[in-house]
This record gives sequence, C-alpha cells and structure tokens, in this order.
Amino acid sequence: MKYAKELDFYKNNQKEVDTFFKKLKKKKSKDVDTQFHELHVEIFSEIDCLQCANCCNTTSPIFRDVDIKRISRKLKTGTLDFEKDYLKIDEEGDKVLKSSPCSFLGSDNKCFIYDCRPQACKEYPHTDRKRMYQILNLTRRNMEICPAVSRIVQRMLQA
Ligand code: SF4
Ligand code: SF4
Repeated sequence: MKYAKELDFYKNNQKEVDTFFKKLKKKKSKDVDTQFHELHVEIFSEIDCLQCANCCNTTSPIFRDVDIKRISRKLKTGTLDFEKDYLKIDEEGDKVLKSSPCSFLGSDNKCFIYDCRPQACKEYPHTDRKRMYQILNLTRRNMEICPAVSRIVQRMLQA
C-alpha cells in the first residue's frame, strides 16, 4: 500500500491528534478554513489519487436521486434497475454501494463513470469546504481512509 504510513498516522499518534482536534474546535472557523484550504491545495499537488484510490476501495459515497438519474442515463439503464444492481439503503437511510470496492473502479484505479460520478465523490475528502469546524469529527475519521487528509493534519501539527 503506497500511502500506508499516512494511513497509520492516527493509530500511532492518537493522543496528540485528539488533543489537536479539541483545540481546533475552539478556534475561529475562518482561521481553521484558511489552514485547511491552503494545505488542501499543497497536499493534493503531492499526492496522486490514481496511486491510491483508497476511498473508492473502502468506503461508499452517498448516491442522491440526482446522481442516480445522471449515472443511469450515462449507463443507459433505468434508475430502478441501477438501484437494484448497485445500491442498498444504509442504517442512516442513505443510498450507498452494495459492495466494496466500488463497482465503477477500474484495475488502473480510474473511475468508469468519472464524468458523472456522485457529487459526494467530487467533494471527497471535503478538506476544501467552508465551515470545516462542522466536520472535524468526519475529518479525523478520514485520516484513516485518505492519506491526503492525514498529511494535511500532520502539516498542521508541525506548524
Ligand atoms: S463512483 Fe467513481 S469516484 Fe466514486 S467511489 Fe466509485 S470509483 Fe470512486
Ligand atoms: S481522495 Fe484521498 S483516499 Fe481518495 S484517492 Fe485521493 S488521496 Fe486516496
């Protein structure tokens, strides 16, 4: 696994990271956003998603109805058939992939439906969104899925 060190960082530094996230929660949202957004650009210029694909291999995006319509159109299938073939309802009532890795992930780590992929895939790992303070718990969890998130937090810790 190319980015194993990043994915293990939380496990190996749990106390330090948890304390840091507690501090972040108390900071002004604008400062937190600026830190994340600058590092998001920096880290994604270093990390190659095609060498990773860990998000597509291990988690599922939420498929909203508008995503399902767009993807079904592209695959020339009906929305009901698409849902039956690929999706299930999770504990929170969201439509997610039935199986993992994602059925649309190629062996070269490219997405078959990249042009019409779900909005949640476009936005992952959410480190460039506004009001980061609202999703700090999710961001912490994503450190163990996405090496970019782990590196962003590591750089913040070093600052
Ligand atoms: S739809 Fe594409 S981008 Fe989204 S999880 Fe599947 S392979 Fe990855
Ligand atoms: S978004 Fe993160 S987990 Fe997904 S492929 Fe890129 S670096 Fe890997």
